[in-house]
Amino acid sequence: MNHGIAASAGVGIGHIILLKECTMEYEKGRTIEPTAELNRFKTELERFTTDTQKVADDIRERIGEKEAEIIEGQIMIISDPALTGEVEAAIQSGTCAEQAMEQVCDTFIQMFSSIDDEMMRQRASDIHDIKTRFLKQLLGIIDVDISKVPKGTILVARDFTPSMTAGIVKENVVGIVTEVGGVTSHSAILARALEIPAVLSVEACMTNLKDGQEAIVDGEKGIVITEPSKEQIAEYQSRYAALQKEKEELQQFSNMHTQTKDGVRVELFGNIGNPKDVQSVVQAGGEGVGLFRTEFLFMDSSSLPTEEEQFLAYKEAAMTLNGKPIIIRTLDIGGDKEIPYLEIPKEDNPFLGYRAIRYCLDRTDIYRTQLRALLRASAFGDIRIMIPLVTCVEEVRQVKALLNELKSELKQEGQAYKEDLKVGVMIETPAASLIADLLAKEVDFFSIGTNDLTQYTMAVDRGNAKVAGLYSTYQPAVLRSIRNIIQAAKEQNIMVGMCGESASDIRMLPLLLAFGLDEFSVSSSAILATRKAISQITMEDAKKIAKQAMQFSTEKEVCQYLSKQIEVHTA
Ligand code: PEP
Ligand code: MG
Repeated sequence: MNHGIAASAGVGIGHIILLKECTMEYEKGRTIEPTAELNRFKTELERFTTDTQKVADDIRERIGEKEAEIIEGQIMIISDPALTGEVEAAIQSGTCAEQAMEQVCDTFIQMFSSIDDEMMRQRASDIHDIKTRFLKQLLGIIDVDISKVPKGTILVARDFTPSMTAGIVKENVVGIVTEVGGVTSHSAILARALEIPAVLSVEACMTNLKDGQEAIVDGEKGIVITEPSKEQIAEYQSRYAALQKEKEELQQFSNMHTQTKDGVRVELFGNIGNPKDVQSVVQAGGEGVGLFRTEFLFMDSSSLPTEEEQFLAYKEAAMTLNGKPIIIRTLDIGGDKEIPYLEIPKEDNPFLGYRAIRYCLDRTDIYRTQLRALLRASAFGDIRIMIPLVTCVEEVRQVKALLNELKSELKQEGQAYKEDLKVGVMIETPAASLIADLLAKEVDFFSIGTNDLTQYTMAVDRGNAKVAGLYSTYQPAVLRSIRNIIQAAKEQNIMVGMCGESASDIRMLPLLLAFGLDEFSVSSSAILATRKAISQITMEDAKKIAKQAMQFSTEKEVCQYLSKQIEVHTA
């Protein structure tokens, strides 16, 4: 049995497909016969061009003309004699095709990326992609096409990038297992959004689990059982059936207000990563979107999305919500969210470094484009802007000044936008929590990001399995922080929500209600269960539970007490 972190509930029985990372190693400086090697290169080049054209045709049909043209642009680049001529010359002088291709591409990449121009940087990123794909082809490395895996597949990988997850067909994948990542890592967030059971941080799973092996993924207990016995399969089949039944029963909560047993209303929103996810929020009866993680738009693209592309994405999301509110968080990159084409230099402490609002206020060229797109889209729905990783008042003022500047620009251009667009901040650092009273005077709303707030308050990397024991929102330090943030918002009369994973934690619910949280934003798969849990408790009981929970000195006592209360209140 393999243990890991239970990251997305549910159970799945199926067969493993390992998504191996290829090392692309080859023997540098090996002796070759130039004429034969040159022929090999030319044959592979032809195959590469034909295959790339096929991909472009497929994309044209499935996605669109513009995306297809991007791929076709790569055929032009690799057919350019300036590039192939140099590769051929290197082969003729005795270098193997792999090394020749790598060297020449690297020279071009360096040349283009040193020019301070968006087009040139894009060219560098295209050549990088060509180099990787061509080398894989030369080395005979075949990637698994995630979108084509058969029904009943358990995907096992070191980690999942957003673009890998984007290819997952949820009907075919019954489980996800990774070697790294915790409950709040992006693999986990995406697995929950797709409602696929997931167990993360399973040590050495890439070597211990085998391709084709039958296995059970238990996303509740955080275990992966390989080669299960007949009894285990039968047990999990009935667990699966019970979960399906629970899901069906939750449907009765889909078209109703969210309120406590004694009628106190709160708002229940959904978290999304792209405009298409709005559908699942609406279907699950979400009353709005409390967090649109826009970095996914940037991660799923091979270059910076333009103002027009972003505008269309934000507008689509807002319009699908049909007047319901949508809180769009501006670019939150860095930390564990990498965007390769931005080429942000590696840092010793990425979680404490050049990320989120810090990056955006430095790269105002990128930020202005996003804010302009957001302002323009605000004419089409109830869009609200949210700033991530705030640590001081100056950051908020700078964003607001930038927004005012951009509003004047748009006005002059005759473009529509919402004049009184609401601006809020994520409270997810101890600094922001400690100055919540000051921040509350500057903004229209707060949203508590417990994923990061827990990480920074406890000084514990949220994706590090070795210290995962400390990563808990039930730690008295984190609970006090949450209570203070909500209180500061109440004193200033601004709305306060929560979009971190704790918003759907049923054990936390009484505390959040008692502290006065106005809005809960949860993954769409958790909307109905959260609404049901809220409907089962009175405000009076929530206050009693919170009072008691806040008296404990240790995380364990809090956790045990809150778990017990669930049994009492849902009995
Ligand atoms: C959080 O930190 O709680 C949050 C919602 O943001 P993310 O998980 O994207 O960092
Ligand atoms: Mg965060």
